[in-house]
Amino acid sequence: MAASCRPQTVFESSTVDIQHCPDCQMIHLTMGSITMRMSEHHFSQFAKDISRGLFEFNTDSVSQPGLRVMM
Ligand SMILES: [Zn+2]
Repeated sequence: MAASCRPQTVFESSTVDIQHCPDCQMIHLTMGSITMRMSEHHFSQFAKDISRGLFEFNTDSVSQPGLRVMM
């Protein structure tokens, strides 16, 4: 993280802190002790990937109880 970084919080929750940094033109994504920096373009792709992953995950957990009953 550059010393000049003054990121501004875009969104904050108990799990994630999303900040936009005008100094390095990056999104700072803080989860606990981990901070990831990515470009705005990468961030919007990442957000789509996360929601796709969540969709697939939810689809899997919905179908699993049915599979267990059949086994
Ligand atoms: Zn920065």
